[in-house]
Amino acid sequence: MTDPDTSARLLIVGPPGAGKGTQASRIADTYAIPAISTGDIFRENVRSETELGVLAKSFMDRGEYVPDEVTNDLVADRLTWADADGGFLLDGFPRTTAQAAFLDGILDGHGHHLNAVIELVADPDETVQRLLKRASEQGRSDDTEEVIRHRLEVYARQTAPLLDLYEERGLLVQVDGLGAVDEVTERIAAALAAKGVTAA
Ligand code: AMP
Repeated sequence: MTDPDTSARLLIVGPPGAGKGTQASRIADTYAIPAISTGDIFRENVRSETELGVLAKSFMDRGEYVPDEVTNDLVADRLTWADADGGFLLDGFPRTTAQAAFLDGILDGHGHHLNAVIELVADPDETVQRLLKRASEQGRSDDTEEVIRHRLEVYARQTAPLLDLYEERGLLVQVDGLGAVDEVTERIAAALAAKGVTAA
């Protein structure tokens, strides 16, 4: 009998305002895997003023990507931690097709592969309303509808090639991100089960 691959080596992708962070931590709990957000790692390093943080900050402040060499090394190192042996959920990486190729290389090197790529899908008009509400609650009046719409467009443009790549490989699972948090979590679990990824 062949041993089915029930590992959870996962990516999560979704526009700002789709509740990605919340779902990522729930998925991590359910599948007993670490949720690894490159943005969070960079921000922690900026806060603690490490060498990586100082470098990353110069790009983040300008709204640019941290260079691939730096980001790739960071992810390669993080995936060697023992907690990622049986799986992981990457959030915010890969962001470019070059990063996706790099990730393939790391996984291949260990005889592994991705099991699924979760795309949280949300209607742009609903997302804009959510983000506007959040901005007013947080007193961020610079987050106007125009700024938010632009951010969503940039996201869609940058993500499209990656989504195409994973769709072609049959890895993409699209999940409606709107609705109650629990409902979305259930939808994700059902979509992953359909790809053979089951809870720990
Ligand atoms: P995020 O919280 O995912 O939006 O990331 C915040 C910032 O960190 C981004 O605007 C980038 O400057 C940097 N960053 C995070 N992930 C990556 C990545 N995969 N490649 C390059 N830069 C990244």
